[in-house]
Amino acid sequence: NLHNKLTDLKGNIRVFFRCRPLTAEEIAEGALTAIDFESAKDGELIVKGHVSSEKVFKFDAVFSPEDDQEMVFEKTAPFATSVLDGFNVSIFAYGQTGTGKTFTMEGIEGTRGVNYRILEELFRIIKEREGMFLYEVTASALEAYNEKIHDLLLSGSQPGATTKRLEIRQSAEGVHHVPGLVEVRVTNMNEAWEVLQTGSKARVVGSTNANEHSSRSHCIHCVMVKGENLIHGECTNSKLWLIDLAGSERVAKTDVQGERLQEALFINKSLSALGDVISALAKKTRHIPFRNSKLTHLLQDSLSGDSKTLMFVQISPNENDVGETLCSLNFASRVR
Ligand code: ADP
Ligand code: MG
Repeated sequence: NLHNKLTDLKGNIRVFFRCRPLTAEEIAEGALTAIDFESAKDGELIVKGHVSSEKVFKFDAVFSPEDDQEMVFEKTAPFATSVLDGFNVSIFAYGQTGTGKTFTMEGIEGTRGVNYRILEELFRIIKEREGMFLYEVTASALEAYNEKIHDLLLSGSQPGATTKRLEIRQSAEGVHHVPGLVEVRVTNMNEAWEVLQTGSKARVVGSTNANEHSSRSHCIHCVMVKGENLIHGECTNSKLWLIDLAGSERVAKTDVQGERLQEALFINKSLSALGDVISALAKKTRHIPFRNSKLTHLLQDSLSGDSKTLMFVQISPNENDVGETLCSLNFASRVR
C-alpha cells in the first residue's frame, strides 16, 4: 500500500493546516485577513501583521477558507486504509475556540466532516475486502474534562446525570485499557455514526452551556477494528481515534477565577502534554512523557510504535486573532 510506504519514509506524524472563512460579522466589521495563501504552495505559509518579521510555517497540507470538506477528506481518506491494515490512527483538531475544530471533525448539517466520511470509507473498504478479510468493529465515545475521563455513551441514557469517572489501566501485557467503558459492536456505517452521534449529543445534554462546555473538554471517539486475514490467518487489532480538542486559547490568569481558572489550567496542562508527547515522538526521544495527562495516557498505545497521527491545526483568518494564530502555529511546528 502506497500510503503506508510513504509514511514509513517520512515518519508517522502529519500536520494539516485549516483556516476558516471570515464570518459575516467579521466582514461587516471590516476585519482583515492575516494569512497569505498565495504563499501556501508546497505547504509553506506566511502570517502577516503584528509580527516584526513575517514568519514562515510548513505543513503537510494547507487548506484555505475556500477548500471544502471534500478536499480536506481527500487528504484524510488514506488513514482509513491504514486502520484496516492494522495501524493505530489518531486524528486531532487543535485550535482556538471558533476556528472550526468541530466543523472539521463533526461537520454541520449538509456538510459532513472527517468523522462521518472516515466511517463511510472504513465500511466501504471492509465491503471491498469481503471474502479476504473479516472485520469486527466496535465504537466508544468519551470525554476528558478537568483531567477526568467520562463515558459519553453511559450518560446518554440518563440526561444530565453525573457520569461515572473512568480510569486507565495497564494489563500485564502492557496494553492500556479503560475498564467498564461501553464498547458498541457496529456492523455498518449507520450504526457506527449513530454511536458517535449519541456520544456527541450526551455532551450537550449534560451541560448547562453546551458551546462553552464543548470548548473546555476534549471529545474523544474511538473506533476499534479487529481484522482477520482469511487467506493467511493473520489477525490485526487497531484503533481509530477521532478527537475534537478543547479550545487552545490562553486565558489571562487575572481575568478568570475559581472554576474557570481551574478549567483553563487543566486544558493548558493537557494540550501542552499532548504537544510534548507528539514532539518527543517526532524526535524519536527515548522517554515519552505519556503520563503527564489523561489524554496522552489514554492514547499511549495508539501514539507510539508504528501508529499514525494527523493533527488539524485550525486557525482564524482574522488579523485580530493573530496572537492566538501564532501560538497555534508554534504548536504545529513543535509537533511536526
Ligand atoms: P470550534 O469547534 O473550533 O470552536 P466551530 O467548528 O464551532 O469552531 O466553528 C465556528 C463557526 O465557524 C461555526 O459556525 C462553523 O460552522 C464555522 N466554520 C468553521 N470552519 C468553517 C469552514 N471551513 N467553512 C465554513 N464555515 C466554517
Ligand atoms: Mg467546537
